[in-house]
Amino acid sequence: MIARRSLLKGGLLAGAATALGAAADSSPAPTVGLRRIATEEGFNIPEVARATARLLPGLAAREPGEAAIFGVDRPRSPGEGPPPWLQQLGDIGASRLADMDAAGIATQVLLLSSPGVQLFEAGEARELSQVVNDRLARTVGAHPDRYAGLAAIPPQDPAFAARELERAVKTLGLKGAVINSHTQGHYLDEIPYRPILEAAATLQVPIYIHPRAPSPQMVGPYLDHGLVGAIWGYAVETSLHALRLIFSGVFDALPDLRIVIGHMGEGIPFFLDRMDTHYAAGGGRGPASKPLSRPPSEIFRDHFTITTSGMNWRPALRLALETLGPDRIMFAADYPFEDARAAVARIDALGLDPTTLASLYHRNAERVFGLTNPA
Ligand code: MN
Repeated sequence: MIARRSLLKGGLLAGAATALGAAADSSPAPTVGLRRIATEEGFNIPEVARATARLLPGLAAREPGEAAIFGVDRPRSPGEGPPPWLQQLGDIGASRLADMDAAGIATQVLLLSSPGVQLFEAGEARELSQVVNDRLARTVGAHPDRYAGLAAIPPQDPAFAARELERAVKTLGLKGAVINSHTQGHYLDEIPYRPILEAAATLQVPIYIHPRAPSPQMVGPYLDHGLVGAIWGYAVETSLHALRLIFSGVFDALPDLRIVIGHMGEGIPFFLDRMDTHYAAGGGRGPASKPLSRPPSEIFRDHFTITTSGMNWRPALRLALETLGPDRIMFAADYPFEDARAAVARIDALGLDPTTLASLYHRNAERVFGLTNPA
């Protein structure tokens, strides 16, 4: 007990450690009746699935990472069918709602599944993004208490993407945008994409930077042993994207810009102290960066919210609570790629105090995405 007390010294650390430390001493907080919002839940529509399938034969040449994800060159075993999640991705109706009920999830925040519209040439990407957003708005409209949606926008045409985000938010009632990391090897901190970031800041909606395969200029060493995807490459790609934004100085230029990243922050919370130390020592400066007004960890805490998608793991959550505090972390299941029931069961079993649990399961999502609580 003495050892635990000494660990609990200090403001944020104390609160966060108490939230998890209670697990050993008391039974779990009651979770019956608690609203659970899952914030990184994938879907797809047939039009995008068909257009993506048409790209697959030529994909290895220009997007070797994405080709590996799609298994373009992988030999099929006889009788091998499509993975079970493929059908679940396409269902935004009854069977998804049944899966949500079975897991105890009230609301899903829906995102067009990675890589979304970002593989297409600009014209096709523009058309498909509108089709996706209109469909998504209808789905949300049919079940406004069960679904919320983030718009698909095509960074290939930044001016259009900014206008489509505005239409999605103001006309369709969507709650932000999803961008599946790099677009043909380019990142959102690059100047041509500034209209997208400005639109999000002006509309006061977040951009969810969701993983995809590492960019073509980075993916080579990930291919030999199949490290491209969720096993490691996704986190490297997406954390790099987030750090490019931080070190570019864009958050000083756009103080209202808000970003969401999944998978317990894609490793960044673990690294914040090292980033601060080395930024203070002169690192994190390059030809495209601007001097930062704050240490990188502060920019991360001020402008990012992370989700627990695919990473509902006690040690990682403990670290995130200690480094970011309970207001910067939202529950996500990463349906249909991960087991939503298991994700809920793991969080419920942690013995978090009721305030932290409510922040994690719904209050932060309500604030970040501007969702109303029907209760
Ligand atoms: Mn996901």
